[in-house]
Amino acid sequence: MSTSAHLPADPAVATPSAARTADTVTDRLVEANRQYAADFRDPGMDARPVLHVAVVACMDARLDLHSALGLELGDCHTIRNAGGVVTEDVIRSLTISQRALGTRSVILVHHTGCGLETLTEDFRHELEAEVGQRPPWAVESFRDVDQDVRQSMQRVRTSPFLPHTDDVRGFVFDVSTGLLREVDPVK
Ligand SMILES: [Zn+2]
Repeated sequence: MSTSAHLPADPAVATPSAARTADTVTDRLVEANRQYAADFRDPGMDARPVLHVAVVACMDARLDLHSALGLELGDCHTIRNAGGVVTEDVIRSLTISQRALGTRSVILVHHTGCGLETLTEDFRHELEAEVGQRPPWAVESFRDVDQDVRQSMQRVRTSPFLPHTDDVRGFVFDVSTGLLREVDPVK
């Protein structure tokens, strides 16, 4: 891709900042954006997702949601955090997505080899010991990814704020094969 932040800057379009030897990663991303914007054409869309779907997924760097799900610009809302956990803030985003921006379906995507499988709630206690303050949030670590997906589906389905909870489906993305596996909501 011509806009990849991994490629060295094209000398023909290099700017003074890109020519510096000590560019930070952010400098590289900003330069990639300049190249992206050079070819960008305003698609003239409004903010309502074309497919009326919201995807809640882990922030994992190996999970390219748009490619993995065949999504295009403007198709969906993507809500991501560590684990793809349905937290209060995810419910906030889903509520706005459904009530203000017209989405009706929710897809949850967790994945194999998630970093949260290696943590426990001790993470919070260790943080407290180190900084003198216990974080108000749960780590939401898990051992069984299928069970974690089921719990996330349940949190969406039982939220009093969401008007559309009949089409909520959960999946595990295999980071080594690229395949999604659907999780049965009832074990
Ligand atoms: Zn993850």
